[in-house]
Amino acid sequence: MAPPRTSRLTGFYKLGVLERRRRLLELAGLPADGFAAVDPGALPLEVADGMIENVVGTYALPFSVAVNFIVDGIETLVPMAIEEPSVVAASSNAARMARPRGFTTALTAPVMIGQIQVTHIADAEAGAAALRAATPELLAAARRLVPRLAERGGGPVALDARVLATSGPDGGVVVAHLHVDCRDAMGANLVNTLCEALADKVAGIARGRAGLRILSNLTDGRTVTVRCTIDDAQLASDDAAGPDVRRAIAAASRFAELDPYRATTHNKGIMNGVDAVLLATGQDWRAVEAGAHAFASLSGAYRPLAVWRERASGDGLDGELTMPLAVGTVGGALHVHPGARLALELAGAHTADRLAALCGAAGLATNLAALRALATEGIQRGHMALHARGLAKAAGATGDLVERVAAELAASGDVKADLAREVLARLSASHVVKESP
Ligand code: NAD
Repeated sequence: MAPPRTSRLTGFYKLGVLERRRRLLELAGLPADGFAAVDPGALPLEVADGMIENVVGTYALPFSVAVNFIVDGIETLVPMAIEEPSVVAASSNAARMARPRGFTTALTAPVMIGQIQVTHIADAEAGAAALRAATPELLAAARRLVPRLAERGGGPVALDARVLATSGPDGGVVVAHLHVDCRDAMGANLVNTLCEALADKVAGIARGRAGLRILSNLTDGRTVTVRCTIDDAQLASDDAAGPDVRRAIAAASRFAELDPYRATTHNKGIMNGVDAVLLATGQDWRAVEAGAHAFASLSGAYRPLAVWRERASGDGLDGELTMPLAVGTVGGALHVHPGARLALELAGAHTADRLAALCGAAGLATNLAALRALATEGIQRGHMALHARGLAKAAGATGDLVERVAAELAASGDVKADLAREVLARLSASHVVKESP
């Protein structure tokens, strides 16, 4: 499928759901019933029952599309599934600020790490040395186990060994890392299968007992770096000049670099965008979460995954995010989940690299939006305005009453469900009176 001719969809948020679908079908070149994949009940119970255990139903989340993204020069629709208001709006807004250059990405090869633990080695250093010496033989054996992956240009690419203990309750302990290029698969099952198949051979060479054999979710060999540049003019808000916002965002970035309490929330803002894309596209988001936070701590201190610097030219900001992103466009839940397949189609993500690039771009976008809001009016105004709209709808408001109830709620500063019902009752009553002849 060709990329959409544009993702710059002005006023998309004001359209009704059916009109939004119509525009996306046309832009993405999907068949007329394309969105049936995310209609209620689209995941049949019997399919769900085959996915996990003890199934008693399916569980829905809003499925949405963030607009305005350009990633590596390509106009891109970014599917998101998330329960939290404002993430889609914030990322669309930040992606608009990043235009026309958009986001650029650089990815490492999609290499995952499989761990084979060997315990009870009398001489752990000698065991590790023996494994290093046997690397060509072990890699050849590993490659023979995954010939199809090798044909696709992937497969086992390296092996190393580390001593974890020379003595102790488990004796001498060595861990062998098998590095596997998983191409378009996330690769957990693939790597686990390889580790299990090689474990006895590895233990024999190291002269110990085979222990655990499973991938590591600290996929620091499979990272994406995303960059963008935002001009001062884009940063300006109704109440704040661009250069002031630029300085405030750079200061907020330094705050996160100095303080793990702040860095955690900074990274949560990044994961808002990343996780929403992961969920929509059927990925193992727990795996990415675990890897992201371990990666953020690799220096010994918990650090922000993205930083923002004032540009040397004095106009605008440079943002840069680097994080591990183990995702797949084959395998996992993708062969059974219709919504996830639709999301990949909408995004035009046919390779794991492209999907990782989009996830990273979404993360950098939500990070920028959060920092800009924090640096200007505070996060709550926009958040509460969107939350108010949700409450107005939940109270039963339809048509123009949604915006009127939401506006009154937001202005009152008391954005609560019971007030939404009260305001709706009052406005509905006056609505009827006004319309009476
Ligand atoms: P998978 O088991 O479905 O394997 C993917 C398969 O796709 C490969 O065996 C390969 O033969 C095939 N394939 C077809 N085209 C390919 C291409 N272009 N590139 C690469 N492979 C291609 O999936 P997986 O990715 O090995 O494992 C992912 C699943 O494992 C996820 O559901 C995840 O939740 C689960 N899992 C995760 C963990 C963890 O993260 N700790 C542990 C166990 C399982």
